[in-house]
Amino acid sequence: MISEALMNQIQQRLPASPVWSAQQSLSSTIGIPIGVSNRHVHLSQTDIEALFGKGYQLKPLKELRQPGQFAAHECVNVVGPKGLISKVRVLGPARPETQLEISKADCYALGIKAPVRESGDLYQSADALLVGTFGHVSLQSKVICAQRHIHMSPFDAELLGVVHGQKVRVNAGEQCGLVFEQVVVRVDERYALEFHIDTDEANAAGIRSGESVYLTD
Ligand SMILES: [Zn+2]
Repeated sequence: MISEALMNQIQQRLPASPVWSAQQSLSSTIGIPIGVSNRHVHLSQTDIEALFGKGYQLKPLKELRQPGQFAAHECVNVVGPKGLISKVRVLGPARPETQLEISKADCYALGIKAPVRESGDLYQSADALLVGTFGHVSLQSKVICAQRHIHMSPFDAELLGVVHGQKVRVNAGEQCGLVFEQVVVRVDERYALEFHIDTDEANAAGIRSGESVYLTD
């Protein structure tokens, strides 16, 4: 049963000229902003100091859409058995555990096999070497290809009719007619509504940050 308050909120989010009919499911009419994640690394404070110097604090460069998260001024070089990727952006703030997130194309360039995982699921993931301006850190089982996911608040989840952990299908635009399967829903009070994919996935679909996608059946 949809409450009146929820219905009001829903109406505010619908397009100015309603294009949906009663037959269409409401959730497929709600635009979800795309956030394309370029390769990046989250660092523990211990690793920040190993890479940039004792007592070092990350310097915020740009706020991200997710509240409290920022792209830092700092970058690292990533080294694998087959190659090097320079200027990989550090995202802040510091986290309890370091995690490097790269695309499949990056895996080939580095010569490593990072598994597709949800953030934080690092068991038997890949290795790489991070090089900073002060020192280096050898990452053991801390490299993944992030599984595509949607961040959302509990309110958004109610609106879209989904729950935390659910896997949904996302229609990623008409140009390539590409539907992403196995998209994980991640619900938290702190999250802003955003569909996160990596650069390989975005390029395959011909979509960019700031555009919108829709859930599909
Ligand atoms: Zn994300």
